[in-house]
Amino acid sequence: MEPIYFDHAATTPPRPEVVEAMLTYYREHWGNPSSLHWSGRAAREAMDRGREQVAALLGALPEEIVFTGSGTEADNQALIGISIAHEKKGDHIVTSTIEHHAILHTAQFLEKRGIKVTYLPVDSSGMVDPDAVRKAITDKTILVSIMHANNEIGSLQPVRDIGTICREREVLFHTDAVQTVGHLPINVREMNADLLSLSAHKLYGPKGVGALFVRKGVRVSPLIHGGGHERGRRSSTENVPGIVGLGEAARLAAEDMEWELQHNSGLRDRLIEGLLDRVPDSMLTGHPTQRLPNNASFCIRYIEGESMLLNLDFEGIAVSSGSACTSGSLEASHVLLAIGLAHDVAHGSLRISVGRGNTVEEVDRFLEVFPPIVEKLRSMSPISAAQSADDWPGTEHAHGSEQHEH
Ligand SMILES: *Cc1c(COP(=O)(O)O)cnc(C)c1O
Repeated sequence: MEPIYFDHAATTPPRPEVVEAMLTYYREHWGNPSSLHWSGRAAREAMDRGREQVAALLGALPEEIVFTGSGTEADNQALIGISIAHEKKGDHIVTSTIEHHAILHTAQFLEKRGIKVTYLPVDSSGMVDPDAVRKAITDKTILVSIMHANNEIGSLQPVRDIGTICREREVLFHTDAVQTVGHLPINVREMNADLLSLSAHKLYGPKGVGALFVRKGVRVSPLIHGGGHERGRRSSTENVPGIVGLGEAARLAAEDMEWELQHNSGLRDRLIEGLLDRVPDSMLTGHPTQRLPNNASFCIRYIEGESMLLNLDFEGIAVSSGSACTSGSLEASHVLLAIGLAHDVAHGSLRISVGRGNTVEEVDRFLEVFPPIVEKLRSMSPISAAQSADDWPGTEHAHGSEQHEH
């Protein structure tokens, strides 16, 4: 049996065109883009093209794109860079409880250094209320950071409304759009975004390269100091092949977006309907309609996400689970706790994220293989339906939901 890859939210396979484009900048044009001679010029031209391609995908200007080493770095750059550059204006940041750790752990780092952070709650489908953003803003607020789409449950936030509120209140708005760039149409002007993070490996590009859109005129302090690359915003000799790969991935994404949207959402809906139909005591997590076109995420009651993952892996099917067994202690996903699920329910999480290479046949094979796995695990499970006292789908609220760093 051919293996099946259903974990595109974790990373996507680089497209052959991307790898091909990158190789040229390892084999031939390996110059330093800061060099003035022929070798440097070829690298510089490639980098300029990559910047234009990324800008075009976002409706931004090329000079508004700052290349970074990852999506994580772009998120750090946004939060820390704005906090430092705007410390005279204020010391308050607004974000949500369901952000990626690249935002949450950076916010916690800033809190230890005197920045005040408001973590807005979400409703049971993982949505931030724009009105809550409005109410959270004070005259000390310097930044609102709300993700475009959640990487675990796929919920799409009303970023446009949030951006409009921020613009009215003259507060900067950042969005972590790592899960949506290249997959959904994005225009930073329509969104009223001042800063936006993206990562190449989530859109069929290479790992270790990302970008931060910084609207023209917005001041941001660099995290990495040195030779003044990226207009002084991110020093380091540029990752030219990575930038070429990101640019090519951005170009291809724009070309194929409509097709990919239809393709992915078709597979997603087949997965959701098929799984809920075949597996009793299972629920969809995230918003029923306002969700990523490729995300099908569930909680399967009475079993652990990790056992499902390992059993599926044994069948050659790669999926993900929100709960990760780290250093011996089973930790429930902060996102699933934030949408109000009880710990034991959250532990049964399963995330399937499809991509351009997946087929209907693969979805059907999953739907055939998965129910017997659930049955087997349930028959071995110490927490059977009979023993479990709390209400489905988990009205009991998170106990001890503090975050552990690891
Ligand atoms: C993957 C991801 C990141 C981190 O990007 P890297 O390039 O892997 O560091 C940040 N935010 C979200 C929402 C993500 O899905």
